[in-house]
Amino acid sequence: MESDVSSLEEVSLIWLTGIGCNGCTLAMLEAADPGIEDLLTGSVEDAPRLALYHPELSLESGAQFLAILERAAQAQLGSYILVLEGAIPVELPPPHPPRYGLGATRDGSPIPLSHWIERLAPGAEAVIAMGSCAAWGGIPAALGSPLQVSGLGETLGGAFRSRGGLPVINLPGCAPPGEGLIETLVSIFFHLRQLVPLGLDEENRPRWLYQHEAYPIPPRVEYAPAAGYDLSQREAVACPVPVTGWVRKLGGCARVGGSCIGCTDRDFVDRHLALARPDPVNNL
Ligand code: SF4
Repeated sequence: MESDVSSLEEVSLIWLTGIGCNGCTLAMLEAADPGIEDLLTGSVEDAPRLALYHPELSLESGAQFLAILERAAQAQLGSYILVLEGAIPVELPPPHPPRYGLGATRDGSPIPLSHWIERLAPGAEAVIAMGSCAAWGGIPAALGSPLQVSGLGETLGGAFRSRGGLPVINLPGCAPPGEGLIETLVSIFFHLRQLVPLGLDEENRPRWLYQHEAYPIPPRVEYAPAAGYDLSQREAVACPVPVTGWVRKLGGCARVGGSCIGCTDRDFVDRHLALARPDPVNNL
C-alpha cells in the first residue's frame, strides 16, 4: 500500500512502553526548538499536527486507550507513527502465560506487548525504536539479567518495512536526546512527502544525528589498569550529544565533564560498564 501523508493535517503518534525506565519519555518531553508541544499544536512548518497517544500522558486510559490501539490495528485511526520505548519481553510458547501486557488485560488475560507490536508495526508510516532498550535490548538484556528481552529490529526482523517503506529507525542512547526524536519525526514527514530522503546509516540510525563521536570513559576508571582495561584502546561510539548537547545545545554528559558510558552502543552495559561492577578478585 502506498503511503501518502502529503494531504493530511494530522498524524497520530502511538507510543508503546516495554521494559525500561521511562527516561525516553522524559527526554521527549524535554525537547525544545521545536519541542513535542510544537508538533502537537501544529506549529512546525510543513509538518502535520501530531496527536499523541501515550500510556502515561494521554487522557485516555484503560479500555479507552486500548480502543485507540485497536482502531489503529484495524486501519481506522488514519496515518500513524509507532514509537517504542523499552525492551520487548520474549514470550514463551503456551502454556506459559504472557509476561508483559502493557498493563492491559482482555477477558482477564494479559495482552503481551509483542501482540501490539506485531499488529501495529505493519500499518505504521514509520516505526521508531526510542532508546537503547528498544533498539537493542539495552540494560534489561545485560549479562546476568533474569529477563529475556529483544530489541524492536530483532523482533520485527531485518526485512521489515513500515507502510512508509522504512526499516525500524533506531535512536539508541540511554536516553537519547529528545530533540533527536523531534528532528527524526519532522524528517520522516518530509521524507514521506518526498521532500527529502531520510538518510539512515548501517545501523538504521539517522545518519546526520549519529555522525558524531563520543569516547566512553567508564565509571571507576581509576581501577581500569587493575581490571585489565586499556583506556588507550577505547573505541569511539556514535552519539549526537557531544555536538547537540541535551536541550538547546546545553548540557549532556559529554559536554559537561561527565562520564561517557557509551550508551548508544550495542551491548553497552557489558562492553563499557563492566568496571562499574564490584571486582571481588581484585577486592575493588
Ligand atoms: Fe551516551 Fe556517551 Fe553519548 Fe552520553 S556521550 S549520550 S554516555 S554515548
